[in-house]
Amino acid sequence: MAFEIFGTLRRIIQEVNTAPDLKQALNIIVQRVKRTMGVDAASVYFRDFQQDELILMATDGLNQSAVGRVRFKLGEGLVGLVLNRAEPVNIADGPLHPNYRFMTETGEQVFHGFLGVPIIQHRVVLGVLVVRQKEVRRFAENEETFMVTLAAQLAGAISHAEAMGGVNELLKEVAGSSFTLKGISGSTGLAIGQAVVVYAHANLDAVPDQTIKNDEIDQQVQLFQDAVDDVARDIKDLSLRMKASLPPAELALFDAYGLMLKSDTLIDGVLNRIRNGNWAQAALRDTIADHILIFDNMEDPYLRERASDIRDLGRRILERLQLKNNHVQKTNGPTVLVGDEVAVSHLAEIPPEHLVAVISAKGSGASHVAILSHALGIPAVMGVGDLPVSRIKGQTMVVDGYRGQIYVKPTEAMLDEFRRLVREEQELNADLNELVDKTSQTTDGVRMPLLVNTGLLADISPSLRCGAEGVGLYRTEVPFLIRDGFPGEDEQANIYRQVLEGFSPRPVTLRTLDIGGDKMLPYFPQREENPFLGWRGIRIMLDHPEIFLTQIRAVLKASERFSNIQLMLPMISDVSEVDEALSLIRRAHDELREDGIFSQLPPVGVMIEVPSAVYQMDALVKRVDFFSVGTNDLTQYLLAVDRNNTQVASLYDSLHPAVLRALQHIVSVAHAHGKPVSVCGEMAGNPAAAIILLGLGVDSLSMSAGSLLSIKWVIRSFSQQVAKDLTETALTMEKASSIKALLYKALEDAGLGGLIRAGK
Ligand code: PEP
Ligand code: MG
Repeated sequence: MAFEIFGTLRRIIQEVNTAPDLKQALNIIVQRVKRTMGVDAASVYFRDFQQDELILMATDGLNQSAVGRVRFKLGEGLVGLVLNRAEPVNIADGPLHPNYRFMTETGEQVFHGFLGVPIIQHRVVLGVLVVRQKEVRRFAENEETFMVTLAAQLAGAISHAEAMGGVNELLKEVAGSSFTLKGISGSTGLAIGQAVVVYAHANLDAVPDQTIKNDEIDQQVQLFQDAVDDVARDIKDLSLRMKASLPPAELALFDAYGLMLKSDTLIDGVLNRIRNGNWAQAALRDTIADHILIFDNMEDPYLRERASDIRDLGRRILERLQLKNNHVQKTNGPTVLVGDEVAVSHLAEIPPEHLVAVISAKGSGASHVAILSHALGIPAVMGVGDLPVSRIKGQTMVVDGYRGQIYVKPTEAMLDEFRRLVREEQELNADLNELVDKTSQTTDGVRMPLLVNTGLLADISPSLRCGAEGVGLYRTEVPFLIRDGFPGEDEQANIYRQVLEGFSPRPVTLRTLDIGGDKMLPYFPQREENPFLGWRGIRIMLDHPEIFLTQIRAVLKASERFSNIQLMLPMISDVSEVDEALSLIRRAHDELREDGIFSQLPPVGVMIEVPSAVYQMDALVKRVDFFSVGTNDLTQYLLAVDRNNTQVASLYDSLHPAVLRALQHIVSVAHAHGKPVSVCGEMAGNPAAAIILLGLGVDSLSMSAGSLLSIKWVIRSFSQQVAKDLTETALTMEKASSIKALLYKALEDAGLGGLIRAGK
């Protein structure tokens, strides 16, 4: 080869570095390589990780129209062979090679000589750099070296661009129509369907002011009240229409709408504004805006989501005021509901037999829409920031609720692949349903009770339907969050009684109020620099014994008839908190006894979710009856990673070796004193982590109802001995990624891969 390798390389790299974007950088590379090596064509292929294909990104010598259109499956063609081998492939006469694939789009029938080198970064093949010669030509060793060195430089540029989102952008651009969007997983599952876009029913922001005369006030008041009545009826109808497809108790969410409609602040707010001389529509606009502002400014994501419910309600009333009719959209076949801010009521606009997935630009995993999608068993992707709603209308799309990913206008090859995965998913779910009545027991006969985490009364029936053995965590804050003030003793007792009765004789572990952090009560506001390190959980309760005592009395009253209750204290970081809480519990018990109410003192346990509690296990075991590990908070506090911050989300990992060691310590101290340990953080519902929890000897697992059958499958597929061996290996590992790889492999080997990815 008649050029000096390193000087030439340096010049090319310098030129590439000045290119304004990745696309132009790639063009410079192929042009310079073609000229330098005296070949007839030079091309770069990138790996599209989402579709597991190689896609032609830039070429000098092949047809330009092939860029973005020519794709190779991994292993397909000579280019695919380079990727599979992850090393250079140098072939004098390509068409003679068994792997050769004829491609008319590239005009490559005229090429014989082939040299392809992989572009590798951190052991991952990101793409392939290829040169072709019309004549038969075997490339020299120094030519191969040149290409390998250039490819290594290119790898750095690609992974940098990838980190900046450039590669995806480029893939989108060259691929023409099909593109991928990313959001947050709201509900898992896979679906393929046609997008139907739902818009705001009526635009409150567009309503103008209109002064009314005194004699028009009554008429406007009447108009508004009629509209409210109509909407109340609409909501009732919607709830009836959803009845067939939603678990009955889930329909309670519609009741929340009904309550909001009747709330004095909403009604009086509008009526006062009308009486002050504005017409009903503007009075409604301003009242709704006031409400939204309050909720939007709340720290608590759950309550922020309520702003969208209020906005939706406002639109519905406006729609009625504007005499527009609510309608069911026309669909013909599987439908993906897409919207800027999809609300609960939008779900009912799609015939339930057609609704296969939900995509919303706004919202989060805590949105009611996500909760309902989960209950309906369809995937939901929320918070898709740059959702081009108008471009998406009517498009076919694939929704991957596991990864929070959407593929718009997928290629035929992608559709085939996803259709296969959807079929497998359906088979998997059918298989899982067969486990409802089976015991949660390992292959060597060890029982692992599976319980549910709940907080909505609405959860009782789905929980029982999936075979839950009780409630491992009842988050009592939910009834506090959806009311205008602290619920009273009898009101609480009623709620708890229903839960205890619903699950009886199965145990219900009721956690005392755990507000603060990201769960702020609207009527009990507090502003803190670091709310997760601040006034949270038991700390608030001990500072407000009147609230704590009311709750405990309510619990004890509820347990008068039902003895299946256990009490659990959250956020314990110091033993004195346990001592004080226990003495308040005893006080409430004594007071009730004086009032003639006799109930048993329930077993009391603490949540281990703060590192200091892990290291005080010796002292805690002497004081309480059981432990439940809150791995959501424990992970956040051990790793110093905010559980709600997307910026550091990649650092948040419950399989971190430090978390496993903490768990090991908790279990060993508790068991040494004969006290049981449960895990009720999200980790318990994670199929890979469940193996570790089984191996560590955790006594029970508590999770959301939707995960229960998957975890039962895991428990029934492993022996505790195997889980122990895997745990022992995991505990020698230094990184969460290695532990995850070990567990994922174990799941795949046991035939349970379908639990951790799309497909069976
Ligand atoms: C936890 O912290 O793991 C837990 C179960 O409690 P919450 O998620 O309600 O904080
Ligand atoms: Mg917690």
